Amino acid sequence: MTLTNDVKYPHSEAAEFGQPQEVAAGVYWVRMPLEITGLNHINLWLLQDGPGWTIVDTGMNTDRIHDLWEGVFADFLGGLPVTRVICTHFHPDHMGQAGWLTRRWDCDLWMTHREWLQGRVAELDQHDKMPGWQVDFFRQLGLSDTALAEIQNTSYTQFRDSVTPIPPQVHSVREGQMIRIGDHDWQGIIGRGHSPEHLCLYNAETHVMISGDQILPRITPHIGLHASEPEANPLQFYLDTLANFNHLPEDTLVLPAHGLPFYGLHPRLAFLRQHHDERLALLEDFCAEPTRVLSTLKVMFRRELNPFEAILAMGESLSHLHYLMGQGRIVRKTSDDGVWLYQASSRRADAA
Ligand SMILES: [Zn+2]
Repeated sequence: MTLTNDVKYPHSEAAEFGQPQEVAAGVYWVRMPLEITGLNHINLWLLQDGPGWTIVDTGMNTDRIHDLWEGVFADFLGGLPVTRVICTHFHPDHMGQAGWLTRRWDCDLWMTHREWLQGRVAELDQHDKMPGWQVDFFRQLGLSDTALAEIQNTSYTQFRDSVTPIPPQVHSVREGQMIRIGDHDWQGIIGRGHSPEHLCLYNAETHVMISGDQILPRITPHIGLHASEPEANPLQFYLDTLANFNHLPEDTLVLPAHGLPFYGLHPRLAFLRQHHDERLALLEDFCAEPTRVLSTLKVMFRRELNPFEAILAMGESLSHLHYLMGQGRIVRKTSDDGVWLYQASSRRADAA
C-alpha cells in the first residue's frame, strides 16, 4: 500500500525570519533560523495573553535569534510585556532561549516537569568529549575503533552550549490541564517518544493545536534511543501516545515546529503509524541473520550519513529494534566481543 500524505497548507510559505504572521485569532507564527542537518528553521508562537504575550518555544541559543527576538519586541508587542514562556520540550531549538527570555521579562517558564528536569540534567553535562560509558554504548552497536574515534572528536556537542542557563524554577503543566491564555483555554496533551513528556496545546474553541515536534507535516519526528537509557522502548511510547490526538476534530489546524501549518491531522496520524509499521517490517526482514545495529543503517536510511547523522540514525534504528523486541518479533544476543546482535524470532523458529 502506498503512503499518502493528505495534508493541506493554508499558507504556501512562511514570512521572513522574525516577522510575526497571524495564523489564528490571537496566534502569531514567528519563524526563526536553525542550522542543523536537514532543518533550516523552527516555528515559534506568540499568543495574545490579556495585558501581555505568551511565547511558545524559543529557538536555539544564537546571537541571531536573540537579535530577531529583540526586533519582535521592539516592533510588534504594542508596548506590552512577555508575561510567560511555554516550552513544548527540552530540545535546545525549543528551550534554548527560555533562560534568557524569562530573565529578560522576569516571567515564568511553563512546561511539563519531566521536560524541564531533562533540560536541567542535560545542562549539567560538562564533558570535553564523549564520556567512556557512551563510547562503550556505541561499541555495542558495532562501531569500529576508528569510527568511535571519529564520533568522539567530531560530533559530541554539548547541550549547554546550545541553551541559555535553564531557569531554576518551573510552573509545571500536566496532561489534560487547561491553561488560560488571553481569551482562550488551551488544553495540554502529552506525547512521548520524541522526548520524555512533550507538551502540545489544543484550543477546543478554535480547533487549533500547537504540536511542537510530536506531529510534523512533512518529516517524521526523530524517535531515538539514547545511551543514557539503553533498554528503553521510545517507539512504543510514541505510537501509544499518538492515540491521545485521535479525538481531535477533522478540521484541527495544526501548528508544527517544523514545516508549515496544516490541516489533515488524522491522515497525518495514519501516515505516521503506517510509516513506522513499514520500517518495522523492513527491519524485521533485514534481521534474518544476527545483525549489528550499524549494519541496519543501510536499509533504514539508504544514503551516506555524516557522523552526527549516524548517531541519530543508530538511535532511530535501535528504537525500532527495541519495539520489535517488545513485541517478541526480534531477539537480541551479545557476541563474544560485546556487540549486540538482533535476529528476527520467526527466522530463528524457521531455522530450528
Ligand atoms: Zn525535538
